[in-house]
Amino acid sequence: MRALLALLACVGVGRWALDTRSAHAPHPTPHAPPFAVVVLPRAVRDSMRARWEENNRHWDELSDVNTLTQMLGTGKPTQREYLGCLWGTISRDTLWIRGASAAHDLKQLQFAVAGSCDGVAQFVGTWHTHPYRADSGGRALKERELSRRDLETFASARDLVTIVMWDSDSLDAAAKRRDGTLLHPVPLAVR
Ligand SMILES: [Zn+2]
Repeated sequence: MRALLALLACVGVGRWALDTRSAHAPHPTPHAPPFAVVVLPRAVRDSMRARWEENNRHWDELSDVNTLTQMLGTGKPTQREYLGCLWGTISRDTLWIRGASAAHDLKQLQFAVAGSCDGVAQFVGTWHTHPYRADSGGRALKERELSRRDLETFASARDLVTIVMWDSDSLDAAAKRRDGTLLHPVPLAVR
């Protein structure tokens, strides 16, 4: 159990240390219009799914590699987190995501990712992937929602919305209210 706690702490520190998304972001958008729902076009969701699948490969090939080596991402090819930028517009109470593009300066590790969306026109937020982890029996462990660290990073960034894809058909999203407080989960419609 002691070893497990130490490893969990490692994951936390690694994520914190690498999560520099907010470091390059300008000040939070003042008076951001509020919205109650996020609409994600099916084609954009499909492109996100392709990135998720690509970056989730190899998760089940690591049963003979210990967890620390898995987390360090050394040795065999491994699954990785991926970070993308979202752009779109707000109309009435809806945030319409119009497209996704790759973040630049992408630094991908197994359970952490960093990158920048500076220069993305109509930028509204970021999305990232949670790849499967393998338990000791080789079964998939899924991190089904935005982590506490993800939400803290989001709160301090200029993003209006943040999305995680944690399975090929599963998303979790958070948004910011006008006063900067978080709405999590925010309703997300794919259509
Ligand atoms: Zn995350």
